[in-house]
Amino acid sequence: MRELRVSVTDRCNLRCSYCMPEDEYRWLPREDVLTFDELSRLVDIFSSLGVEKVRLTGGEPLLRKGLAELVRLISSKPAIHEVALTTNGILLAPLASALRDSGLDRITVSLDSLRPGRFEEMTRRSGHEKVIEGLRSLSAAGFANSKIDSVVVRGVNDDELVELVEFSRTIPAEVRFIEYMDVGGATGWAHDLVVSQDEILAILSKSFDDLEPVPREDSAPATRYALPDGWTFGIVSSTTHPFCANCDRSRITADGVWYQCLYAPKGIDLRRPLRSGASDHEMRQIVTQAWLIRRDAGALERLAMTRREAIPVTILRRDPHLEMHTRGG
Ligand code: SAM
Ligand code: SF4
Repeated sequence: MRELRVSVTDRCNLRCSYCMPEDEYRWLPREDVLTFDELSRLVDIFSSLGVEKVRLTGGEPLLRKGLAELVRLISSKPAIHEVALTTNGILLAPLASALRDSGLDRITVSLDSLRPGRFEEMTRRSGHEKVIEGLRSLSAAGFANSKIDSVVVRGVNDDELVELVEFSRTIPAEVRFIEYMDVGGATGWAHDLVVSQDEILAILSKSFDDLEPVPREDSAPATRYALPDGWTFGIVSSTTHPFCANCDRSRITADGVWYQCLYAPKGIDLRRPLRSGASDHEMRQIVTQAWLIRRDAGALERLAMTRREAIPVTILRRDPHLEMHTRGG
């Protein structure tokens, strides 16, 4: 257990077609959303059990008021070696410096297209120029090793891969192409829409000669490649080549439900014991007992299914915890 993903809100200011395709959503009750002090305590409990890296996510994490304060609380913990953020970038530019000053180490910005019209089609909202501005603000704010995550959808943005690599140099931020995953409320998912790692590589090999695989770090989700000049990109192939065997991450929703796998149908409610006075020792026991018998390999199981049974919208409405935007991706 090395990485903890903390979702700070289930709300989002975009409606990406692969994540939030519906017109209406049921949100987590506001009173259930954990305070910064509660989240900080959970991070302490997990860090005492091995977690060294925290990634803040959402929904859109920058919608959470005062996020820099949470960053400060977490980054000041000696056991936490890295605090990272995954954001859609809309609100990033004006906040980047404050986040850096609070101790945020790294930022990943999700961006699937360089074309404003296509961005609007994919996210069903405007704001492309703000995302670009957010990316361009990273270096000046002092961020290094930034990343751009691009979900590739067949027939939608699979003609932009080369442009995205070239654009990523200008930030600079390594682009990682993400296979479209059949997860949560991705009710528009279909096998035909997935552009596989092999296809992504084939497309890029036509434009870039001599792509060299970069040796993989143990639990890193991306397979990385270097261009002859040393610039790199990555491919996250959770759909066609799941990396469950090396997965060292778990995730907490904004209301304190802990999931040991992105695909897990059920999580463990940590809010209830947290709010009813459980000691740190008792909280650690709850987490340890569950983690020791962890058998999750959700992406592998999904790969083995011949036919997908989409989670019906009625069920998603009943339990927002099943959604990708609640679990944080
Ligand atoms: N709102 C923030 C953002 O978009 O970066 C953080 C939360 S979002 C759920 C985290 C990541 O999940 C994003 O990079 C997004 O592109 C990715 N994602 C969402 N739905 C996906 C899907 N069906 N397949 C693959 N990636 C997905
Ligand atoms: Fe898009 Fe992220 Fe919002 Fe999902 S949570 S709709 S991926 S911006």
